[in-house]
Amino acid sequence: MANVLWLQGGACSGNTMSFLNAEEPTVIELVTDFGVNILWHPSIGLEIGDQVSDLMNDCISGKVQLDILVFEGSIIQGPDGTGTMNYFAERPMMDWVKDLSEVAAYTVAIGDCATYGGIPAVPPNPSESTGMQFHKTDKGGFLGANYVSKGGLPVINIPGCPAHPDWITQILVAISTGRIGDVLIDQFHRPTTFFSDFVQNGCTNAMAFGEKIDGHFGQRGGCLFYEVGCRGPMTHASCNRILWNRHSSKTRANHPCLGCTEPGFPHHDLKKGSVFKTMKYLGFLPKETPTGESKLTYYFKAGIGKVTNAPDSAKNYGQSK
Ligand code: SF4
Ligand code: SF4
Repeated sequence: MANVLWLQGGACSGNTMSFLNAEEPTVIELVTDFGVNILWHPSIGLEIGDQVSDLMNDCISGKVQLDILVFEGSIIQGPDGTGTMNYFAERPMMDWVKDLSEVAAYTVAIGDCATYGGIPAVPPNPSESTGMQFHKTDKGGFLGANYVSKGGLPVINIPGCPAHPDWITQILVAISTGRIGDVLIDQFHRPTTFFSDFVQNGCTNAMAFGEKIDGHFGQRGGCLFYEVGCRGPMTHASCNRILWNRHSSKTRANHPCLGCTEPGFPHHDLKKGSVFKTMKYLGFLPKETPTGESKLTYYFKAGIGKVTNAPDSAKNYGQSK
């Protein structure tokens, strides 16, 4: 059995909504079949007021064993490093997180804000938001680069805006069944089982990518990389492999991937002209090219393909790197 305490900081509750939609396993199955005991959750916990602060204090004192601390939303440190902009149970939330992360067997950050700071951390960042153990791509964040939980792992990051529900429930199962030691994490602390493939892997537009056929929002028959800024070839996530609601994904619905599972999200800090638009040099060379090959190689191959009209093999793209 694993006791889970779920807290929220600078959050929109999007990851909670995602979590509640989990299918493999569902939240109910987490409890009935996998020994997860949800001590408290802001949306489904029954306790209020002092009952919640008493529970958290009992976790900190060791009276209640805290197996998994889940955090959703950014860590708000403003104003001036006090954290009082996000007060919870009569203390800055960041103080609760500090104390609880020291007693938790495992600490899990859910969603882009908790993992890397996300949209709240975009400059000028008035709330002084940061992620649990990263600030964008820089390791450190709120808990510091050297943080490890009692179970010996750093913060396990499940990014996404929101994170896919099954990424969340399956990692909770791995911890509650004692198998988290088998889960590898990458340099940004993402479980490789979900974040080795690119979003492009399994995208139904992959052939059009190879043939360089432009696509448009919501229209079948083209690739969204060339004009509307799809980040599928640069984004590690299994969105086209396990799909959302078991049915679809952004790119299958012809909406560009925004790259929400990468620590740089939101990319270019939402600078004007950088969203839903492929940024280009000289008006025709994409500034960002598929991960895994140099820009020059990509431009060369794409140029040859254009001149000879020979499609790049789509299967060259979207493979694990
Ligand atoms: S993931 Fe994006 S860039 Fe890749 S084929 Fe699909 S629409 Fe095109
Ligand atoms: S398709 Fe891209 S933007 Fe959409 S959830 Fe997956 S990684 Fe995030």
